[in-house]
Amino acid sequence: MPPAGGRSTEVGSPGMIEALRAIVGSAQVLTDDIATYAIDARKKYFGKPLAVVKPGNTAEVAAVVTLCAAHGVAVVPQGGNTGLVGGGVPDESGTQLIINLSRMNRVLEVDPQNNTMTVEAGCILQNLQETAATHGRLFPLSLGAEGSCEIGGNISTNAGGVQVLRYGNTRELVLGLEVVLPSGQVWNGLRGLRKDNTGYDLKQLFIGAEGTLGIVTAAVLKLFPLPTATQTAFMALGSPAKALDLLTLMKGRLGERVTAFELVSDFALSLVEKHVPPFVSPFAERHPWYVLCDLADGRDAQALAADLEAALAAALEGELITDAVLAKSEAESQRLWKMREDITWAQVREGRNVKHDVSIPISKIPQFHAAAHAALEAAYPGVRPVVFGHVGDGNLHYNVAHPTATHSEDEWVGREWESVSRIVHDCAARFNGSISAEHGLGRMKREEIRRYKSEVELSMMRAIKAALDPAGLMNPGKVL
Ligand SMILES: Cc1cc2nc3c(=O)[nH]c(=O)nc-3n(C[C@H](O)[C@H](O)[C@H](O)COP(=O)(O)OP(=O)(O)OC[C@H]3O[C@@H](n4cnc5c(N)ncnc54)[C@H](O)[C@@H]3O)c2cc1C
Repeated sequence: MPPAGGRSTEVGSPGMIEALRAIVGSAQVLTDDIATYAIDARKKYFGKPLAVVKPGNTAEVAAVVTLCAAHGVAVVPQGGNTGLVGGGVPDESGTQLIINLSRMNRVLEVDPQNNTMTVEAGCILQNLQETAATHGRLFPLSLGAEGSCEIGGNISTNAGGVQVLRYGNTRELVLGLEVVLPSGQVWNGLRGLRKDNTGYDLKQLFIGAEGTLGIVTAAVLKLFPLPTATQTAFMALGSPAKALDLLTLMKGRLGERVTAFELVSDFALSLVEKHVPPFVSPFAERHPWYVLCDLADGRDAQALAADLEAALAAALEGELITDAVLAKSEAESQRLWKMREDITWAQVREGRNVKHDVSIPISKIPQFHAAAHAALEAAYPGVRPVVFGHVGDGNLHYNVAHPTATHSEDEWVGREWESVSRIVHDCAARFNGSISAEHGLGRMKREEIRRYKSEVELSMMRAIKAALDPAGLMNPGKVL
């Protein structure tokens, strides 16, 4: 429980810091050298926290939140701080407290028969994948930041990643949650049930809420059988429309065994070649587009390889693809995936660009791409879209780089960010898409979303926020 104290403990006063130390211990209240906690992964937002608190268990989180509620101190929940919309960093006021969950990293239970794993929020995603594997199970959430993002952050952003096509978003992988509410009360909803029709499904409110409704402290996660056979194919093709036809063909022939289907434009790949050596292209020639596809199965590896080869032969014959390579080993598969993940770093080295994370109904992706490219070209002749993403889920990272890679690029990105985004987001809206497929709204898209959601939808969201967080102290300035 928090130490007794009245409102005389001012925000940022030594009294407040002392009260926090009494809850979590002096070593877990950081006030010096805390800049890394206050800067987001993109280095777009530079906050100034009151302090960083690192609780070790749910009771400590509850006590810290109770103290903050009593003193009107706003809190910012933080996991691995890999979020891409500035949701996990405070504002510049020096009055907001970061509650970092990283010390809460215990796996509480693995139940292979129930196919569930109960974990604390600060567990690093990759560690959870490895824990599941040691029990012969798969935890399928997989994304580029998995070595440092935490499951509480994944839940709070409803993270997507590369296997949504087969296993769904984080939302579909969570059976139960424990949450510290803005009042400091603890809701224990750690149920490992696949059926539970007992009224509102409250956990869904907190999944994807970006820490604005409460602090996730633990979760029950769904596990799956560990595949015994996997295959990776990298294919060259002429257009996004061909990629969709290819997806239909692969799904038709291989069904649920298609676990990932990633589209990469030649320009995105050329940036990897330019900036992330040593780069060895799997193909002798350049092609306009590529698809990286993973398959997984619980049966015979040779049968899976044969089915994939037959599907690729049909795709070649049907002129959906122009070339293909199959990874002959796990190491080759990893090399192909590294090439895909390196697009992120290659873009950084090329210079800043305007980032987008849109989703479009899958069938409309070719029209969206054509419309967005035409509108951007009309406004900024020679503009260079860096297009890649989880096209099997209709999710494109449609980033936009300046016509030339010059030093003026940074200035251009800063000046034109809003108008470039407006073009891309309006195009997404025209095809009934979303301006945030998986990264969330955070600080970055908080204003922008008002343009695309109806007043009815926004007012329902505001009502939920007001019901759970009437004082507005839980990650203020994010989402709404
Ligand atoms: C290289 C790279 C690749 C990426 N690839 C993908 C991808 O493929 N798919 C994808 O979806 N994302 C991707 N991301 C974005 C990011 O990794 C995800 O959003 C991730 O889920 C964030 O987890 P985190 O622990 O780092 O959360 P943080 O960045 O710390 O926080 C994110 C948000 O969640 C809130 N939050 C964090 N922990 C809690 C908690 N315990 N309770 C309540 N709220 C909390 C924060 O306040 C913030 O609003 C990528 C990022 C990078 C850097």
